[in-house]
Amino acid sequence: MKFEGAITQIIRRAHDVKSFRFKRPKGFDYKAGQFISVGLNIDGQDVKKPFSISSSSTEIGYLEFTKKLTGHVFSNMLDSMEVGDVMQIDGPYGNMTFEGEYERIAMLCGGIGITPMVSICKYGMDLGLDTDMALIYSNSTQEDIAFKDELDETQKHNPKLNVIYTLTKACATWSGCRGRICAEMIEKEIPDYRDRIFYLCGPPAMVESMESALGELRIQPERIKQEMLAGY
Ligand SMILES: Cc1cc2nc3c(=O)[nH]c(=O)nc-3n(C[C@H](O)[C@H](O)[C@H](O)COP(=O)(O)OP(=O)(O)OC[C@H]3O[C@@H](n4cnc5c(N)ncnc54)[C@H](O)[C@@H]3O)c2cc1C
Repeated sequence: MKFEGAITQIIRRAHDVKSFRFKRPKGFDYKAGQFISVGLNIDGQDVKKPFSISSSSTEIGYLEFTKKLTGHVFSNMLDSMEVGDVMQIDGPYGNMTFEGEYERIAMLCGGIGITPMVSICKYGMDLGLDTDMALIYSNSTQEDIAFKDELDETQKHNPKLNVIYTLTKACATWSGCRGRICAEMIEKEIPDYRDRIFYLCGPPAMVESMESALGELRIQPERIKQEMLAGY
């Protein structure tokens, strides 16, 4: 479906991350994990970029996507936008979906790769699904963690969700996991990893590295779903 969306709300998720909400049009159905194409007119040219949907289809009133602010042209234009401003939206697209069909899933993501996972976590909580969910979410520093409050809150309401934060540049007082997502970390934090379906999302190099970690753990490719955030 294509529609012109007027921004209804802008929410800061981290120092360099903002979410944009729109009224969800009637008939705009999507699955957790899918993405939309967002179009802006920049200096007379229509420019489109894909963004994962960070809301859940259980949230009837709005549709949300979330942008990591990079200082580049498209990003700066989004960053300057206000409630009421419009953009062209088209979708949904993508096959990295979750509809509650698995008993156990493991989500591995880095940085802005959290966006489809937020949608999956909210979907599971809102529908009270039985799916056991483990999420390993990697960032550089504590300040970089987007959606921390929302994830902590979702975890409180859904005992079936376990969120593990890992930092690659942690300060001395950080008590969580340290380092990049690797085979040893997956084995330690998700001991029943062999029974899970994996969802991977992040910049291409990160997704490739997580895939090779799963290869080391002898996880069959058909048990892995992934979305590479090409463009980073
Ligand atoms: C399926 C999918 C889902 C996605 N979901 C999200 C999401 O939820 N949130 C999100 O923030 N992004 C997401 N992305 C990525 C998004 O589409 C953009 O590509 C990304 O946000 C960067 O856009 P930008 O305009 O900020 O930067 P761009 O201008 O596109 O820059 C991207 C990269 O190119 C480099 N670059 C740009 N211009 C130049 C130049 N002139 N010379 C050299 N290097 C340059 C930059 O350093 C940067 O590393 C997704 C991508 C895909 C494919």
